[in-house]
Amino acid sequence: NSMIARRMQRVRPSPTATISDRVRELESAGKGVINLGEGELDFATPERIGYAGIEAIIHHQTKYTAVSGTAELKAAIAHKFVRDNGLHFSAQQIIAGNGAKQLIFNALMATVDAGQQVIIPAPYWVSYPDMVTLAEGEPVIVATEEQHGWKLQPAQLAAALTPESRWLILNSPGNPTGAVYRARELAALAEVLVDHPQVLIMSDDIYEPLRYGQTPFATFAEVAPQLADRVLTVNGVSKSHAMTGWRLGYAAGPRWLIAAMQTLQSQSTSNPGSISQAAAVVALTQPQDFFTEWLDKLNQRRQRVLDMVAATDGLSAQIPEGAFYIFANCQQLIGRTTPQGKPLADDKALAEWLLAEAQVAVLHGSAFGTPGYLRIAYAVDDTLLDEACRRLQAACGRLG
Ligand code: PLP
Repeated sequence: NSMIARRMQRVRPSPTATISDRVRELESAGKGVINLGEGELDFATPERIGYAGIEAIIHHQTKYTAVSGTAELKAAIAHKFVRDNGLHFSAQQIIAGNGAKQLIFNALMATVDAGQQVIIPAPYWVSYPDMVTLAEGEPVIVATEEQHGWKLQPAQLAAALTPESRWLILNSPGNPTGAVYRARELAALAEVLVDHPQVLIMSDDIYEPLRYGQTPFATFAEVAPQLADRVLTVNGVSKSHAMTGWRLGYAAGPRWLIAAMQTLQSQSTSNPGSISQAAAVVALTQPQDFFTEWLDKLNQRRQRVLDMVAATDGLSAQIPEGAFYIFANCQQLIGRTTPQGKPLADDKALAEWLLAEAQVAVLHGSAFGTPGYLRIAYAVDDTLLDEACRRLQAACGRLG
C-alpha cells in the first residue's frame, strides 16, 4: 500500500508475535497447540504487587506522572541498582518506560544517525536489528559460537569496531541462548572498548535474576566503571516479577542520554502507566521470597527439555545457565524427509512442520540470526511441557 511510509520497509513483524498469532489461530480452529514459542513466564504476578496496583487505583494514582517516572519509582529503581549491582544513580540518571523494549527503542532512536553501526552479537533478541534499521542505523551482526558458550569474544568485537560504530548491545542472561557472561568476560570486552570512545554499550539485563545453579551475575557498568559514562543499563519487571502485561521497564546511564530518551518519550508515549509504576515500587523494594520456588520449578523444566533433547536423535544443546530457553542444535534434522514425503529445507521448515505435526510451537533459530537451531521456551506448566516434549521427540523420530 502506497500510504505506508518507506521506513516501514525496514521493519519486519516480530517473529515471536507472529508465532503467537499462529498459535491462537490454530487454537480457535480447535487444535490443542502447546506454545513453547513465547518469552513469558506462566507464573502469576505475585499478589502483593497486584494489590499495590489495586491500591493505586483506589487512591487515585491514576493521573499523568513525570514523563520519566514518579519520584517513588525512581527511588525504588536506584535502590535496586545499589542492592543488586553496586551501582549508584541519581534520579536524573534513571528513566522508566513502557517496558524495557520501549527504552531500548528510545535509546537507539535518540542516538543513532543514518548509517551508524550497532554491533549485535548473534543469536540476538529479535527486536534489536529491526529497531536499529528503524533508526536508520546499520545492524552489524557478529556470529558467536556454540563452543564459546554463545559469547562474544574480544577479538570478534575488535574486528567489528569501526569509526561508525555507535553501540554494542549485550544481553545476559541471553535470549535465546540463556548464556550468562562472567565479570572477567565483560572486563575483556571493556578493555577492547576503552580505545573506542565513539561506542556506547547497552546492557540488557532483563533476565538478571533468572539464573541456575549459583551462576553469578555481572553487568557491564559494574565491571567497567571507567566506561560508566558510556553505558546504558536496561532492566524491567517483565521477567523478574512475571509482569509482562504491566509494561514497566527502566534504564540508567549518563544524564545526557537519559535526558535525550526522556525528550523522545515526552513527545511519544509519555509516562508509563501510573498504576504499573506503583506496583513496580513494591516489586523492586520488597523481598523476592517467591523467587526460589520459581527458580526451582524452572530448573526442573529446563532439565525436562534437556532430557528430551538428549533423547532425540538429531537434536543437541548446550546447558543454558539462565533465562528460560533451550537453544537446540537441529542441523542433523535439516534435509530429512517428513512422513508426508517432504524434505525439510531449513530450521523454519522444521519449526513449521513441528507445529503442524506435533502441534507444538517453537521458534526457528534463523529468527534470532542463527540458522540450524530451535528455541524452546520452557516457561509453561509442567504437564503441558511434559506433553510437548513427548510430542516433539515422537515427531522428530518420524523423520526419515
Ligand atoms: N530484552 C530481551 C532480551 C527480551 O527477551 C525482552 C522480552 O522478551 C525484552 C527486552 C523486553 O521486555 P519488556 O517486556 O520489558 O519490554
